Amino acid sequence: MTRATDMRAKGGAGPARHLFVLRVDAKDIIVHVNNHWLAFGKENNYPATGLIGNPLFKFVTDTTTQQLYRTLMRRALESHKTITVPFRCDTPSQRRFMSMQVVPLPGKEIEFRSRIVRTEPRSGVRFLDPAAPRGDKLIRMCGWCRKVAIPEWVEVEIGVRKMRWFEQSLLPKITHGICPACEQLMMAEVGSSLPRRPN
Ligand SMILES: [Zn+2]
Repeated sequence: MTRATDMRAKGGAGPARHLFVLRVDAKDIIVHVNNHWLAFGKENNYPATGLIGNPLFKFVTDTTTQQLYRTLMRRALESHKTITVPFRCDTPSQRRFMSMQVVPLPGKEIEFRSRIVRTEPRSGVRFLDPAAPRGDKLIRMCGWCRKVAIPEWVEVEIGVRKMRWFEQSLLPKITHGICPACEQLMMAEVGSSLPRRPN
């Protein structure tokens, strides 16, 4: 599984068609992650152990994002329909456009199935390097589109230029939330997947 990850990191294989699968039970406890999810998580510094048997919301800690997940999950269960939402999961050298399906299963379980839709290369952005030294200053990043609030929401490259982060030895710390545009988009997505009444 690391081989697939390495290929993707080099960009040689094009957007991977793997499905990254994570499943929770009716009490939001993680009951399954597939190998592709683990490989992807490893690449993105997600916790690799201690997932199974723990609440999803131990790992999704931002309250706005938690609320959004809960809404997506509730609507998927109520409507018995899969909800699909776009998100970004970037690396320092790639913009990764992804898609996540929220799939209702029997027994009120929910499966999150994510995949990479397309990637765009970019010159290395040190700001996104988890190994870069960070100071105490906090900067908010949208967990869905990866824009940063400076305080207006902009692409990371624009934030880096405008805030002159490239000149600083200590970068700000990243906290996660959701920008108003993504919140609106998600809510529209949730609304559109509600069961339609027969005319
Ligand atoms: Zn956003």
